[in-house]
Amino acid sequence: AHDPRFARSHNQALLELDRRHLIHPVTSFRGHERHGARILESGEGMWLTDIDGRRVIDAFAGLWCVNVGYGQESIVEVAAEQMRRLPYATGYFHFGSEPAIRLAHELTQLAPEGLGHVFFTLGGSDAVDSAVRYIVHYFNAIGKPEKKQFIALDWGYHGSSSTGAGLTALANFHRGFDLPRPWQHHIASPYPYRHPEGHDDAAVIASSVAALKAKVEEIGADKVAAFCCEPIQGSGGVIVPPKGWLKALRTACDELGILMLVDEVITGFGRTGPMFACEAEGVTPDFMTLAKGLTSGYAPMGAVMMANHVYDAIADAAPEALPIGHGFTYSGHPVSAAIALEVLRLYQEGGLLSNGERVGIRFAQHLERLRAHPLVGDTRGRGLLGAIELVSNKGTKAGFSADLDVGGRLSALTWEKGVIVRCFGNAVIGFAPALCCNDSEMDMIFERVEGALDALLEMPDIRSALRS
Ligand code: PLP
Repeated sequence: AHDPRFARSHNQALLELDRRHLIHPVTSFRGHERHGARILESGEGMWLTDIDGRRVIDAFAGLWCVNVGYGQESIVEVAAEQMRRLPYATGYFHFGSEPAIRLAHELTQLAPEGLGHVFFTLGGSDAVDSAVRYIVHYFNAIGKPEKKQFIALDWGYHGSSSTGAGLTALANFHRGFDLPRPWQHHIASPYPYRHPEGHDDAAVIASSVAALKAKVEEIGADKVAAFCCEPIQGSGGVIVPPKGWLKALRTACDELGILMLVDEVITGFGRTGPMFACEAEGVTPDFMTLAKGLTSGYAPMGAVMMANHVYDAIADAAPEALPIGHGFTYSGHPVSAAIALEVLRLYQEGGLLSNGERVGIRFAQHLERLRAHPLVGDTRGRGLLGAIELVSNKGTKAGFSADLDVGGRLSALTWEKGVIVRCFGNAVIGFAPALCCNDSEMDMIFERVEGALDALLEMPDIRSALRS
């Protein structure tokens, strides 16, 4: 029999062990010791239950990854079946396995034409890291070894490898880690709300193109290898560039003779509507990085898609007797690959991609409605990826001072109301609900978030900050 007194002490012990031993990702060590974690136990569809039995709606798909929602039984079945038959197969030494081969084929069919080759990783960070290694290898292969400089965007996020964290432009990923490296450069983000001509799409696009050209000129065109960007900047605060931006940057990269690496780790797999965000702009990058929605978080996996012309150049330059020294023990892991194949089936035959597009319209309407809230300065989104930006003054767009801890208070309030969203610093609340979300769940998410915003507005210090 289940004794709740035992459960309580068991949970207390678990929290204590977590505080004592587990280093959480992107978390202050001392902060974690003080606050502890919210320990999750199970999930079903859009819903998560914690160890105290508290049920909350997850409007962030875990970490923008569980695109198919929790508890998809068919995924569990294919994973169990693959583990029984063959839990592991290396891709080294001319071995392989059927799930990895079928998945590579399927991705090349889904991706923009010309990305005919796939290298599998364990997640997004090592996908970015792998893409950068291959780009370096490529320029050596074609006899341009001086082209080794990379340009990325302010507010970009490209993972937590030493390379990706340097391409990232978020202060806490650099501070104390001696990043960025001298070969990693950044240009201004196409951030319409904070852009002096943000109301004018063409001006925002033109300023990005001009900034890239200026940076390439400053470094020297013969030294720049690639431009690297997310189609919509996720961890920087869901920054949505104007339509046509990615296409314009693709054209600029071609004119400048540099490669384009598009990081679709968040935006891939229906998150913004189509299978890949590149598709909406008719863009084929030279490299595309994928993870998250690839397996919907049911197992770790990422991928680098490589353009045919890059692949051929590397292939032609490498002597056959000398293996190209890049690979992981778990590249193309058969269980992850089998899961990814089932996840892709759910997006397509399972109707999740079309449900995502349908419910995305309701999502956009809810976001737009929140614009009227006294705390909300901006709302933005595409597909099922969106954010609201909080300001203390809608006219000047001034934010809240750090000591008010708006982000921390909102996280607590939304949790209390029974919804998980992501608070970025003191300003932005991000949303990334799963593609299985139905209309009433979508309404519930916004009802709860609005309740949390209203409760924040009731706090005297927030109220007076708003008046100032
Ligand atoms: N690239 C982008 C755009 C991401 O958003 C992330 C993770 O959030 C990564 C790379 C890193 O992926 P991972 O955390 O799977 O290593």
